[in-house]
Amino acid sequence: MVNNDTSFQSTPLAHSCAKDRELVTNRIVAKFGGSSVADAESIKRVAARIAQAQRSGKQVVIVISAMGDTTDDLMDLALQVSPQPRPRELDMLLTTGERQSAALLAMALNDLGVEALSYTGSQAGVITTNTHGDARILDITPRRVAESLEEGMVVIVAGFQGVSYDTKDVTTLGRGASDTTAVALASALGAEVCEIYTDVDGVFTADPRIAKGARKIDEITYEEMLEMAANGAKVLHLRCVEYARRENVAIHVRSSFTDKPGTIVRGSIEDGDLTAAEEQRMEQVLISGIAHDRSQSKITVQGVPDQIGKAARIFSLIAKNNINIDMIVQNISEVSTGATDITFTLPSEDTERAMSALKDAQEEIGFTGLLFDEQVGKISVIGVGMRSNPGVTAKFFEALADNEINIQMISTSEIRISVVVDIDQLNDAVRVAHSAFDLDADTEAIVYAGTGR
Ligand code: ADP
Ligand code: ASP
Ligand code: MG
Repeated sequence: MVNNDTSFQSTPLAHSCAKDRELVTNRIVAKFGGSSVADAESIKRVAARIAQAQRSGKQVVIVISAMGDTTDDLMDLALQVSPQPRPRELDMLLTTGERQSAALLAMALNDLGVEALSYTGSQAGVITTNTHGDARILDITPRRVAESLEEGMVVIVAGFQGVSYDTKDVTTLGRGASDTTAVALASALGAEVCEIYTDVDGVFTADPRIAKGARKIDEITYEEMLEMAANGAKVLHLRCVEYARRENVAIHVRSSFTDKPGTIVRGSIEDGDLTAAEEQRMEQVLISGIAHDRSQSKITVQGVPDQIGKAARIFSLIAKNNINIDMIVQNISEVSTGATDITFTLPSEDTERAMSALKDAQEEIGFTGLLFDEQVGKISVIGVGMRSNPGVTAKFFEALADNEINIQMISTSEIRISVVVDIDQLNDAVRVAHSAFDLDADTEAIVYAGTGR
C-alpha cells in the first residue's frame, strides 16, 4: 500500500532552481503517466494520493496521460481504418485518450469528497503551433486553471494536447509529451517543482527493463538529462527537459507506486548554477548513464560523385521533406571511380519518404544505388565526467569488442559518445557498457508497471 507521507513534498533544491521565476508557494503541478493510471483501480489509487495532498492544504494541478497503452491502441485503430489518416483527424482521435483519463480521475476525486474539475489542453490554455502530431507550445494562458485553483478545486489537465493559435484545431505535442504539458504548466503557474510520477523510481543509469543492475540517479543536470532523453531514454520527453532548462523549473521524477524520493533534474554545467563542489562531484562520476534507441534506421547512398555540392544536395532533399537526420558517415572516395558512399540515420517512420525522394533525384545527383537497414539501434554513453577523461571512448569500444559487438557508426558530443550497432545486439551492448563503467548496483532495479511499449 502506498504511504503518502512524503508525497508531493517539495525538495529544498527546488528553491534555488526557481530563482528567476515568480513562485506561488504551496502550488503543486504533478503528472501521472499512462502506466500509473492503466485501469479503474489505479485511477482510484492515484486519486487517493492526490486527495491527501490537497487536504494538506496544497493547490494541486494534475496533468494526466491516457490510460495504459490507449494512445497506441487508438493509433492502431486509426491505421486499420485508414492507412494514412489525415494528421488533423488523427489528433482529434488521439486527444480523446487523455480526456478519458482526466474525466475519470475527476470522478474518482469527487467520490473522495474532493472538488475536482477536468480540462482539455485547449481549455487549460495550451496554445500551440499547427503542426499536427508534433506541435510546439507557443504560450500557456491558464486563466481557468488558476481561477479553479483559487476556488479550492483540484484541477486535472489532459496532457499531450493543445489548440493551434492559427487554425484553432486540436493538436498533439508528440508521443510522450504529457511530460512537456506538465513542465509548461508548472512554469506558467509558478509551481516550485514539477513532479513526474511514473512506473520506475526515477531516472536510472540505464533503462531498468534492460539493465537489471541499473542504479537510480539522485540528481542529474539538465544537459545530461537532455542527452539521455534525446538518445532514447523515454522516462522524460525531450522537449520537457528543454522547457524546464529554459524556464528554470526543477523536475522530480519518481514512482507513483511508492513514496520514495526519485531523481531531481536541475542545474546546468554551463551557467554557473553549480557550486565548485558540485562540479567536482559530478566530474568524479565518469559516466552518468547509458541510453539506447531502437527507433532509427540507416540509409546508404552508394557511389556519390565526390564533387562539391553533392552532399549538400542530398541533405537539402532530406530537409525539404522535414526529416531529421542524426548521424552521418562519409567514406573516403574510391580512387578508381572518384565516388563515395554516404550513410546516415533517421527516424524509421521517415525511411520510406526519404528513399523515395532520393530515388527521384538519383539521375540528377548521379549516385549509383540506395540501401536501407532497419535492423539497427543506437547506444549512447553520457556523462559530464568524460569532458576531463580521455579514456572513455577506448573503454566503451573495448567493452563492445570483447563481446563481439560490431560498431557501424560513431558520433560524439562534449558529454556523449553514441554508436550504431545491430539491433539484435543492442540490449547486450547496453548491459556490457553499463558494467564496463562500473554502474551496476547490487540490487535489482524495480519496474512497477507498464508494458514498455
Ligand atoms: P509514463 O507512462 O509514466 O510516461 P514512460 O513509459 O514514458 O512512462 O517512461 C518510463 C519508462 O522509461 C520506464 O518504465 C523505463 O522502461 C523507461 N526508461 C528508459 N530509460 C530509462 C532510464 N534511464 N531511467 C528510467 N527509466 C527509463
Ligand atoms: N498518451 C501520450 C503517449 O502515449 C502522451 C503521454 O503519455 O505522455 O504518447
Ligand atoms: Mg512518458
